[in-house]
Formats: sequence, C-alpha cells, structure tokens
Amino acid sequence: MARRDYYEILGVARNASEAEIKKAFRRLAMKYHPDRNPGDKAAEERFKEIKEAYDVLSDPQKRAAYDQFGHAGVGGAGAAAGAGGFGAGGPSFADIFGDIFGDIFGTGGGRGGGARGYRGADLRYDLELSLEEAVQGTKVRIRVPALETCETCAGSGARPGTRPVTCPTCDGHGQVRVQQGFFSIQQTCPRCRGAGTLIPDPCPECRGRGRVRREKTLEVNIPPGVDTGDRIRLAGEGEAGERGGPPGDLYVQIRVREHPIFTREDNDLYCEVPISITTAALGGELEIPTLDGRVVVRIPRGTQSGRVFRLRGKGVRPVRGGPPGDMLVRVVVETPVNLTPRQERLLRELEETMREGGERHSPQASSWWDGVKRFFEQMTGGGR
Ligand SMILES: [Zn+2]
Ligand SMILES: [Zn+2]
Repeated sequence: MARRDYYEILGVARNASEAEIKKAFRRLAMKYHPDRNPGDKAAEERFKEIKEAYDVLSDPQKRAAYDQFGHAGVGGAGAAAGAGGFGAGGPSFADIFGDIFGDIFGTGGGRGGGARGYRGADLRYDLELSLEEAVQGTKVRIRVPALETCETCAGSGARPGTRPVTCPTCDGHGQVRVQQGFFSIQQTCPRCRGAGTLIPDPCPECRGRGRVRREKTLEVNIPPGVDTGDRIRLAGEGEAGERGGPPGDLYVQIRVREHPIFTREDNDLYCEVPISITTAALGGELEIPTLDGRVVVRIPRGTQSGRVFRLRGKGVRPVRGGPPGDMLVRVVVETPVNLTPRQERLLRELEETMREGGERHSPQASSWWDGVKRFFEQMTGGGR
C-alpha cells in the first residue's frame, strides 16, 4: 500500500507549528474516531492513519527524521534518529484528549522549583562514507568528544554527601526584581546566574559544573541512500546539559567520498567503460560492475563512442523513498596502441577496403565533412 504524506493526511503545511498540528489532529480525530463511527471500517482506517501521522509530526525528533528521510526515517531499521515504531492498537478517545489537553494546559510547567539548568550544546560530526556505504547503508561507530554528566555528583555539581542550596538572593527563582525609577524590572539573578541554586561545596571531579569532558563511542545507523549534505540527528547525544538541563543533539553530517568508477547524480549512477573497436564494430557482450554485482550489457553492432546505455533501476534507492535511479553506462571506444607491424598492416588494409564504402562505413565522418563543405560554400558564396 502506498503511504500518504503525513502532512497531507493532517492537511497542514510542512512548516506548520506544533499548535497547528495539534489542532488539525484534534479536528480530524473527533470526526473519525472509532467510538464515534462504530462499525465503519473506512473511518477506522482513516483514524489509524491520522493517529500515525500525528504521532510522528507531534514528536520533534520523529518529525525531523521524517522531514529528512520520509517514511524510511521513522519506520523500520533505518530509523537512525531513534524513532521507534508506533503502537498499532488505537488509544481510547479519552487517552488522546487526555494527552493533548495535558500538553496544552501545562503539565510541563515545572518552573517553580528553581533549578532549571541549561540545555547542552548541539554537536556536529562530519562523517565520510564510501559510495557503497552511502548507497547500501551501514552502521558506523564514531567517537565524539562530549561533555557528559559527571558520575561523581550525578550532575548536581555538589560534592557527594552535600547538596546545592537554594540561592538566597533570588529565593530559588533564578530571577530578581530590580527597581528602576517607577518600574520594577525582572533580571537574571546575578549570584546564581539563573540557576536558582548555589553550590557551597563543589564536586572535586567536575569543579561544580556537573559535567566532565570525555570521549564517547556511538553506533550510528546510516540508512541506505544517503548522499553528501544529508545529516542524521541523534537526539540527546550532544553535550550534557548543565545542572540537570537537557542534553543537546548530535548531528552527523554526511560526505560521500569520490568513487574510482562511479559518480552519482541524484539517484543515478554514472560510469564510463572502455570498449575495443572490434566490440564497437561487431557488437558483443560487456560485463559491467554495479554496486550489487555484475550485469551483462549487450553492445549492438556499430556502437559509436560516447553512446550511453541506461540500466533501469540499477542506481540508488533514495533514502526518502520512491523508485530507485538508473545506472548510466557510457562506452568509450578505445584506440589501439603499441601495434605490431602485422597489426599495422592489417589496419591499413582495413582502411583501404573501407575507403571504397565511404559513407556506409563512417556515418559520422561523412556527415561532418558534409557540414564542413556547406560551411565553406556559404562563406565563399556569400558575396551578396
Ligand atoms: Zn561532579
Ligand atoms: Zn539566585
């Protein structure tokens, strides 16, 4: 079954905000929910589709993967950005509206406690792949330098056995009010720099930062079909947040190395293959390498140098879904070199016999010379 575009299913633009997506989902879910359409199979299918689209587009991580890689980005094994499968069983009406209203009416508040921390920085890792790896997909292990949560103090920054205390200047709010003339202005607390807490006895390992610098090894799934310029987002694999803040993301930026035989253009692969004048003249079979094995191409009699043969579907299967590209093979007729006296004699003999046939044997040469003739005639006859 062809899968429809998630944005199309929800009837929203590709740059729709989270709120717009939520709104569209609510409207459609109200209409198609099985509880409201008992026994209606079509409505049930429609509802599943809507729910699936919403599950992906409402999750920033899955949405990013989908935007970049289409259904392949959020579906099966290729889901490098860590998107799992979606629950197949439909949630109840109450469940859906429970979560949505929950989101809207702020269960996410949690600001009052003071320690909100800082989100860690996003990291970028430049990954070079061979063409084969990019086309077929692969798993790579990469080492990234990262600030990680300090194990000694579990990220709190306080010496084990002690704990951060509420900042007395801002009373844990992270913000202070400053009176300026008639106005009172809210500012980030200068003492705790917005954290809401102070660390009287810092952890010796991280000196109170809650993070330590070390290298980590990650295994990255590269889905088949990626190309230079694609990037894969590993949510939460960036630098650790400070003082309990969330970690940043890691972006793996793909660059595909040049291949000795193939060049890639979009989803087509292109290569040049030399053939002998005999094969070109008499026809024959040519074995051509493709990225998934060898293919035999029939070269017809009288093939000219530069002719391109198209092998349908032997190109790259695009990472965002859709039909695979083609392989384009350009044959180049090779001029024989280092001839023995006998070979030279034979070649001259061949040339002589062919001169009699003229146009019949060299279609390109004769049409070219015709063109040259016309060109000179126009030049000399142009006295008008
Ligand atoms: Zn520490
Ligand atoms: Zn403070």
